[in-house]
Amino acid sequence: MQLNSLGFPRIGRRRELKFALEKYWRGESTQAELCEVASELRRTHWQWQTAAGVEQVPVGDFAFYDQVLTLSATLNAIPDRHRGEGAIDLDTLFRVARGRAPTGQDAPASEMTKYFNTNYHYLVPELTQNQEFSIAYEQFFDEVSEAQALGYKAKPVLLGPVSYLHLAKTVGQEFNKLSLLSNLLTAYADILARFAAQGVEWVQLDEPVLALELDTQWQAAIAETYQALSTVNVKVLLASYYGGIVHHQALVSALPVAGLHLDLVTAPEQLAVFANALRSEQILSVGVVNGRNVWAAEIDLIAERIGAVARDLGDRLWIGTSCSLLHCPVDLDVEVKLLPVLRKQLAFAKQKLLELSKIRQLLLAPNSDEAQKISAFCIARRQAKAQAADKQVIERVAALTTADYERVSDFSVRQSVQQQKYRLPLLPTTTIGSFPQTPAIRGLRSRWRKGEISDAQYTEQLQQVTRDTIERQLKLGIDVLVHGEAERNDMVEYFGEQLAGVGFSKNGWVQSYGSRCVKPPLIYGDVSRPKAMTVEWAEFAQSLTDKPVKGMLTGPVTILHWSFAREDISRDAIATQLALAIRDEVVDLQNAGIGIIQIDEPAFREGLPLKQSEWQTYLDWAVNAFKLSAAGVTDETQIHTHMCYSEFNDTIAAIAAMDADVITIETSRSRMELLNAFEDFEYPNEIGPGVYDIHSPNTPSVEAIVHLIEKAAQKVPVRQLWVNPDCGLKTRTWDEVEPALKNMVDATRELRRRL
Ligand code: GLN
Ligand code: ZN
Repeated sequence: MQLNSLGFPRIGRRRELKFALEKYWRGESTQAELCEVASELRRTHWQWQTAAGVEQVPVGDFAFYDQVLTLSATLNAIPDRHRGEGAIDLDTLFRVARGRAPTGQDAPASEMTKYFNTNYHYLVPELTQNQEFSIAYEQFFDEVSEAQALGYKAKPVLLGPVSYLHLAKTVGQEFNKLSLLSNLLTAYADILARFAAQGVEWVQLDEPVLALELDTQWQAAIAETYQALSTVNVKVLLASYYGGIVHHQALVSALPVAGLHLDLVTAPEQLAVFANALRSEQILSVGVVNGRNVWAAEIDLIAERIGAVARDLGDRLWIGTSCSLLHCPVDLDVEVKLLPVLRKQLAFAKQKLLELSKIRQLLLAPNSDEAQKISAFCIARRQAKAQAADKQVIERVAALTTADYERVSDFSVRQSVQQQKYRLPLLPTTTIGSFPQTPAIRGLRSRWRKGEISDAQYTEQLQQVTRDTIERQLKLGIDVLVHGEAERNDMVEYFGEQLAGVGFSKNGWVQSYGSRCVKPPLIYGDVSRPKAMTVEWAEFAQSLTDKPVKGMLTGPVTILHWSFAREDISRDAIATQLALAIRDEVVDLQNAGIGIIQIDEPAFREGLPLKQSEWQTYLDWAVNAFKLSAAGVTDETQIHTHMCYSEFNDTIAAIAAMDADVITIETSRSRMELLNAFEDFEYPNEIGPGVYDIHSPNTPSVEAIVHLIEKAAQKVPVRQLWVNPDCGLKTRTWDEVEPALKNMVDATRELRRRL
């Protein structure tokens, strides 16, 4: 009964890889020094895994930037603009990823996008119609040798051919990506043959696409692929994760692969189905410890659940994490300041491997003292958690009625009440919330966190920043102001820190892309808001002007998606608790005289399940969570929301159902194309389509903005339109922001004159 580690985080428990990469990029270290840090990390991680009882260490999970990019390099699928004179090397990878590297010519980086339904970003392979694949980069093979030289049995882990093609985009002439499959398979077969020659027994090929609902072409591609690769002399472990694959059961069970991995965390019901269909020469790897979350596994319950299959399969059962541990922080042992209640509930990557070994213990020697101890510990932990439940929150949720989700009156009534109250001009101008987080502001916050300045000094300096931000907006002539969010480090963390039931780690970093990591809040208990979170800042900002200043909040769905959420209640239930906490804040803001309140939901779309057939269920509860957060106010209070992503067609009905009085969206890069969805749907409420791209340092011209607003007005009645940038301005400088907003206001005035 082997323990299967599908992949380990590479960033390092103290983000060693991040710092080594950034040093190298700044030209302050050599490539050899960077590679030394990398190999030290691999050595450490392999050693931890082996110490936990993992027999075959994963190789290929390490990447200097992104594992999909390493694979593209291995396959020689690198865009011409990033190739240098010689062979593909590390700097080639950095040019693809960042547009630049210490050597070679700068060229625009490849596109980066989210990996399936995770918060990890991969570099999108760019494939041309005549794409050729051949082995062109040695990192995987070198690492196999490295592991073997250290005495480990190496199990290479690679993204499978079908998922690779699925994630790629085509460039140049349009063509069907699948036309490249047979070429690609030849290259994969060469890669596998190289591994075989190195003495590798097992290769893990990850096919997360299996969790999607694939059309017949893509299903055929799966069959063709694993048929073709079965001729190579290695055992293939086909790994699925991020969702169940029962919908492809017949297809998958018929594949000539030596082993199959299932994610039983997201889809426990798959176990019986696939175990029954397993051929006698195949192994089954069961992903029972969640690779995407930080909570300690219910080891005793897991052992119970897989007990029968374990007895049936014996050595043909492997026990694994649900997916690679890439999405999980590295090591709980370096957390020194955690609340003890919280610590007991946690397991980071290193600890999750130990959980696997405990599950094995329970299965192999259920009556041993050690096994009894493990079970007793799990039971006690569950009891403690149940006792810590917040009855008030639970009762409040239970008492909710449908009325709690609805505003007092319909939008048309609210709209006229609000027009009466605010008397905003045609095409009101506003911004999305944040203004430049200058080095001075960040420095201030870090001095405050270190205790170098007092709370009073910190507040007083931030008030100065806020005052300045309001003055600048007044001078620009913006109609609906914001306070600028100078006091916020991050739009989720700021709220997480103030909510009960939410905790923080010190080193719980997870790679987002390249050297960038995020440290998601930990929603470990019932969520509530002990006291107002934003009211003082909102009141202060509003006291400086007669123009309306928007209250600014992060919505429940976004807080949920950007956190590690508990698993003992549904996501839907957590969203409801978060919604009530935000609702309390919305009501307090209203009572403090803040008449316009924005509830940001930039991550709304991210929660969409991989299977389209499950979308509606998600949308129903996500929309409800938003509505619950917003509906506690009177008709006069104007609720805004904001979303910045590039696809509304398939979710427009849900967006409309949210019933925000105003939605601001990112549209400038799509040149208002995104508004088509709103036009076709006859979206009834008000919309602020972004009129300039905040990701660019360039100043948009008055003409360009006029043109975009005119385009918008062709799609949406002008009375419904607002004028604003695409998103918040925190990453820009004032030198960039002021001229851009001035042109935005000038363009609006020009149009008001004309219309
Ligand atoms: N109010 C936030 C800001 O302006 C919104 C950020 C976002 O959409 N990601 O920074
Ligand atoms: Zn945004």
